[in-house]
Amino acid sequence: MKILDIKATPVTVPAEAPWRWSMGIETGTTRTIIELVTDSGVTGIGETYGGARTLEALNTAKPFVLGLDPLETGTLQHRLSVFGTSYETNVPPFVRSGIEMACMDAAGKALGRPVASLLGGAVRDRVQVASYLFYRYASEDGRLPAVDTAERILDRANELYERNGHRTQKLKGGVFAPKQEYRALRLLRDRFPDDPLVWDPNAAWSVETTIRVGRQLLSDGFDLQWLEDPTSSLEGMSQARASVEIPFATNMCLIATDQLAPGIRMRSVDVILADVHYWGGFRANQKMVAVAEAFNVGVGMHSDRELGISTAAMVHLACTIPNLAYAIDSHYHDQADDVITTPWVYRDGAFELPSGPGLGVELDRDKVDFYHRYYLEHTEVNEFYDPYRPGWVPALPIF
Ligand SMILES: [Mg+2]
Repeated sequence: MKILDIKATPVTVPAEAPWRWSMGIETGTTRTIIELVTDSGVTGIGETYGGARTLEALNTAKPFVLGLDPLETGTLQHRLSVFGTSYETNVPPFVRSGIEMACMDAAGKALGRPVASLLGGAVRDRVQVASYLFYRYASEDGRLPAVDTAERILDRANELYERNGHRTQKLKGGVFAPKQEYRALRLLRDRFPDDPLVWDPNAAWSVETTIRVGRQLLSDGFDLQWLEDPTSSLEGMSQARASVEIPFATNMCLIATDQLAPGIRMRSVDVILADVHYWGGFRANQKMVAVAEAFNVGVGMHSDRELGISTAAMVHLACTIPNLAYAIDSHYHDQADDVITTPWVYRDGAFELPSGPGLGVELDRDKVDFYHRYYLEHTEVNEFYDPYRPGWVPALPIF
């Protein structure tokens, strides 16, 4: 089997309501849908970040991809890794991952096997997903209220628990002062006393604030699964962690292979988050997991507003990582729509591993066309600003 062509279609899918985070708001998600055409009649699909910059990088990568066997993703990664060392051209890891995702889907479809089998085989058939509770602005149509108080976070947690059954509660913080968000965390603990609890301030806190809040959490008897990126950088995390006996996880300060050695040596984190995009694909995640295992560092999984294709990639990958001992993240329950024919549904707080070949999901052509037009009309979602606070520019630490 040989790759004949790569097609790319940018789409923007709006969120149910704008998500708030430490560096701005996210009104939706811009993704590029990748279709990999092969000479066997099979087309593989992939998804990755962005619009224009992704198209440019895919064009750069194209001559190195055409003619390859989609099953040979090691060769693919080797060919594209040359760009990691060049200043003049750039095929970032998230673009490599989108191409690799489409390759694995094509190979799986051609062989009649799920991607999880090609990754070495599933060790579980479902993966638990955290509630991932965001502060939000009200939806544009006014249908959904703002989530901007501790009580509203609790309401949202109850609503999502009723609907999806999440058994890990995760508060996305870094929006309000730690004292205010602390109240939400307390309400969550009281309501779900047996569930793992995570707080993710997205590096909004200084090292000093992290130590102060961490000590308060310990003296109040909180038993957090982890604090996620309370402060920024390997050095900042390392300094804070040395003073607070709470596990730290990251999707901000340790997100690339060359950060593994210093980050682990400095004891900056206890848990590294896998990610189907920014690590560079399935193979890159497997390498990271092997390093984490060797150093007895934990592994979780990060989410950044994936649509249904990347959600499938996450579930396949998560089901093949034996030492992934935590619920993964997903924004899926906050997405207004998707571009696949059968959207994901939660069963008892989990996503189930698809049994079909490849990723096990199919494109909904009408939806792709619709959200491509939406992308052309609205361009890319910029998450690093806040239209509701004119003039505000994100700068960390905030607190
Ligand atoms: Mg995070």
